[in-house]
Amino acid sequence: MTGTREQWYVAVEPAGAEILRQDLLGRRILDRTLRPRRDGGRILFPVLGPEGATGRADFRPHPVAEDLPRHELVGGIALMQGKNPEEAHRLLRARPGLHTVLYPESAVEGIYRTRRFTVLAGESTTRTRYTEYGMRFDIDLAVAYFSARLAHERQHIAGMMGAGERVLDLFAGVGPFAIALAAHARVVYASDINPAAVHLMAENIMLNRRRNVVPVLADAGHLAGVLPRMFDRIIMNLPVSSAGFLTSAARLCREGGTIHFYALQSETGENLPLLRDVTCGRITERKVRSYSPAQHHAVYDVEMR
Ligand code: SAM
Repeated sequence: MTGTREQWYVAVEPAGAEILRQDLLGRRILDRTLRPRRDGGRILFPVLGPEGATGRADFRPHPVAEDLPRHELVGGIALMQGKNPEEAHRLLRARPGLHTVLYPESAVEGIYRTRRFTVLAGESTTRTRYTEYGMRFDIDLAVAYFSARLAHERQHIAGMMGAGERVLDLFAGVGPFAIALAAHARVVYASDINPAAVHLMAENIMLNRRRNVVPVLADAGHLAGVLPRMFDRIIMNLPVSSAGFLTSAARLCREGGTIHFYALQSETGENLPLLRDVTCGRITERKVRSYSPAQHHAVYDVEMR
């Protein structure tokens, strides 16, 4: 084929294509310069190396990707790094799945961890539908926190679960952890202090037909006085200020259960002294992703004793 490039690939049946794509993206091995293609009844995804690959094949490059302005996709919305309406319109024309291009006017801020946006092109909305590993989420970026960057991490936690666990997601947002983990859990309690987030979470629970997720509008700090110490697994994804809720989480986690404590940090092990103060048991630290040149997003898996 002319205009093609040979690359390693992983082949999959169409029904498993989206799950594989997300997995390859999460492991950062999808070759995003090339377009996946059909081959008979299978979809071939180009990957960056031979490890786990099915073979080699020719792929066409993505036609315009390299000269588009820098952006991040969340469902039908693109978040652009520069505030340039002309470039935003060009982006909108080049990507058929987009309905809106936004520019974030602020960093993630406030207790609800949201950002302020300007609409640069397309529909005047901050709401969209996002798909992750076959699950669907209605999100509204202006009123409730959402990040697609933890998609792989959610699957990683799901993979650690045993049968019939009771899970508590203390800072659940619109429900991506809670809904992903519910597929493997007996029950998931999912709390958030932001009414708009809990409202969207309730919609997402229905959208994904989960019958074992309990949305709770509450301050996580109050839950230890209300819920029993019964949880096998507790998710604490409030990276800048989880520390203040660690004592409450420890009171809600059963002996032998696990707390996943997420933090933004500059150095490996930065949060170990704090965790050792409040909890005892085995602690495993993992880097989830880079956040900025100076900081990374880490998770500490704390087995409670
Ligand atoms: N876990 C979700 C996700 O991965 O998309 C959301 C994480 S977001 C970083 C943190 C969430 O914690 C926000 O939705 C915010 O409203 C919520 N939050 C902040 N303080 C809280 C508190 N004291 N109690 C419960 N939720 C809180």
